[in-house]
Amino acid sequence: MAQVELKGLHKSYGKVHVVKGIDLSVKDSEFIVLVGPSGCGKSTVLRMIAGLEEISGGEIHIGDRIVNNVSPEDRNVAMVFQNYALYPHMTVGENMGFSLKMAKKSRTEITGKVQKVAEMLELTEYLNRKPAELSGGQRQRVAMGRAIVRSADVFLFDEPLSNLDAQLRTQMRLELKKMHMRLKTTTVYVTHDQIEAMTLADRIVILKDGLIQQVGTPIEIFESPNNIFVAQFIGNPPMNIFEAKVVVNDGERVLKNNNFVLPLIDSQYPQLSAGSEVQVGIRPDAIKTSLEKTDPKYQMEATVILAEILGGQSHVELDVAGNTLIAEIEGRLRAKPGDILKIGIEQERTILFDPKTTLAL
Ligand code: ADP
Ligand code: MG
Repeated sequence: MAQVELKGLHKSYGKVHVVKGIDLSVKDSEFIVLVGPSGCGKSTVLRMIAGLEEISGGEIHIGDRIVNNVSPEDRNVAMVFQNYALYPHMTVGENMGFSLKMAKKSRTEITGKVQKVAEMLELTEYLNRKPAELSGGQRQRVAMGRAIVRSADVFLFDEPLSNLDAQLRTQMRLELKKMHMRLKTTTVYVTHDQIEAMTLADRIVILKDGLIQQVGTPIEIFESPNNIFVAQFIGNPPMNIFEAKVVVNDGERVLKNNNFVLPLIDSQYPQLSAGSEVQVGIRPDAIKTSLEKTDPKYQMEATVILAEILGGQSHVELDVAGNTLIAEIEGRLRAKPGDILKIGIEQERTILFDPKTTLAL
């Protein structure tokens, strides 16, 4: 096992600068998820850690070595890709043991290790099958098994679940988490899926255009996003964002957008005074139809535009004084378009952003 450290990491392809200076310390046995939209540089970062891509600037440390000039096979990392291409003519057991065979390990050692990992991944009964005789999920497990048998210091995953259907993805996500709890191997996991990031990560790293936007635990990122991009990237449905002005009403500061008015608690954002312009961020689950935790003075009427009923909760698009907001309502809501609901907003969870810089205030 080992820690991984990226210092001022850069990558350019010709004139195109795709990774623009990344500093990141991954602790020993930590599970880090790199998440961001397609094209932001996630795979490039991972491939540079693996040694599959030359770096244009900076340093990569694995354990106590700088590995800039160490070849991929000597970095002792194991990588699993989205297209994990198993060798079709080899059995599951042979696929899993292949890297050990290449490393000239003894037959007994290879069989022993493959057996042990196969048991862990519940693949024992498939060891003599060919990949074509397996389901997608089983093949994915073989690809992981192939990485695990190598007892690598670091696991690198590049969207390993993207090819699976939704149900299998959820199941494999849980298996991955359990595998990490057991093996505690330092892991850097790349995905564009914010649910994978939230559920798997010890810490999430949010990347955009080759730059880190924020590093934090899933809850830190959800509760205190650094900027509007992070706020809207993490969380489903995404955070509601709209503009407002600070107005003073009877000595009380409020956020106002036409007829939409929200109080500003005294302790919140003391730097804001009358006339300040802000972007207001409200999580869908901070909008309530059970009103106990909301200020009666600022409860509002909302017209249902559309309700998506998911069973135990609903996502409801609402018109609130001319603003369209998405609410996540717990319980069995029976709302249809045109219905009027009384809503309140958990004011202490409102997050304000600077409209110019988009940074959290
Ligand atoms: P992600 O994995 O986040 O979707 P990538 O790391 O694959 O993004 O790519 C980042 C950017 O680098 C993209 O704009 C992509 O087009 C570009 N890129 C990736 N590989 C190459 C390459 N070999 N040559 C030129 N540009 C590349
Ligand atoms: Mg990629």
